[in-house]
Amino acid sequence: MPHVLTAAELPVPELFHRAEIWRKRLTEQPMPPLQPKAALVALLFYEPSTRTRAAFEQAAVLLGYHPLVLTAEASSVAKGESLQDTVRTLNAQGIRAIVLRHPQAGAPWQAAQVSEAPILNAGDGAHEHPTQALLDLYTLWLHYGKPDPTARWLSGRKIAIVGDIRHSRVARSNLILMAQAGAEVWLCAPPTLQPDAPLPHAHHTHDADEALRDADVVMALRLQTERMQQGLLPNLDAYRRDYQIHAERLRLAKPDCVVMHPGPIQRGVEISDEVADSPRSLILTQVRNGVYARVAVLEWAMEAPKTPSAG
Ligand code: ASP
Repeated sequence: MPHVLTAAELPVPELFHRAEIWRKRLTEQPMPPLQPKAALVALLFYEPSTRTRAAFEQAAVLLGYHPLVLTAEASSVAKGESLQDTVRTLNAQGIRAIVLRHPQAGAPWQAAQVSEAPILNAGDGAHEHPTQALLDLYTLWLHYGKPDPTARWLSGRKIAIVGDIRHSRVARSNLILMAQAGAEVWLCAPPTLQPDAPLPHAHHTHDADEALRDADVVMALRLQTERMQQGLLPNLDAYRRDYQIHAERLRLAKPDCVVMHPGPIQRGVEISDEVADSPRSLILTQVRNGVYARVAVLEWAMEAPKTPSAG
C-alpha cells in the first residue's frame, strides 16, 4: 500500500475520478448503506484541526472503518513515546491506515519508515499538506467544468497565493499541483514572510497588486502565528493595508476571479468579511470537496498495491 506523503506523488486523475464517484454518492443519490469492517483507521493529530480531521473522520466512516483519534495530549506521546514507537504500536494492533498531522516537517516520512499500514500526511509543520492541495485543485477542476485532468488544464490561468508563504504547507503543496497542471503561480508575501529560498515554478513578489493583477484565482493564507518564532510582522494594520484580500483590491483581478482560502479564516485580517462571504468565494466549496478528496485518497491508499518507490 502506498503512503501519501507529498503532493508530488498523488495520482491526480485517478483521485479525481474516485472523488467524483464519492461526490455523486453523497450528493446525488441516496446514501448507500455503510459496510462496517471491524477495523480501525488512526488519526494522529498532534496539532489542532477542524476541517482536515473532520473530513478524514468522515472518510474513515464512509469506507466502513472506525476512526480512532489520538491527540498528543491524550496519547503516550505525552509520556515521551517516539512517533515511530507509536506507529509500531498501532501497526501491532492491526490498524489499517494512519493519518498524521504533526508540527514537525518530515514527521510522516519518519512514520512511513516503520509502518506496514499507509501513512497519510495531513500536514507536517510548514512543509506539505498534500490532501489540501488535492481538494483545492479538485475545487478548481470542478469550477472550470472538469477539463481533461491528464492535460495541463490550468495553462493560461494566473493563480495568486497571498499571505504567510514562509510557514505555509498549503502554499508548498498547492504550488506543486497547480504548476503541474500548467498554472502560472504567484506567491505574494511581506518580505519577512517569504520563504528562505525562492520556490521552484513560482513567481515571487512583495506587491499584492502585482500578484492580483489579472488573476483568475486568488488564495488567501492565514498568518501562522504558532510557527513564528519571533514577531515577523511589525504590525497587523500594515498587513491588512498591504495584503488583505478585500473587494477593492480584487478589482485588479479578472472579473470572474474566484477566491479561495484553506481555512481557518481570520476575518478582517487576511480576508474581508465581504469577500469571504461573496458569491466569488469558494471557501465552503473547498470544505465540502475536502470530504470527497479525502475519502478518495484514503480509499486509494488502502486499496492500491504497495509500490517500491513508496516503500
Ligand atoms: N488548515 C490549513 C493547515 O492545516 C491552513 C491553516 O492552518 O492555516 O495547514
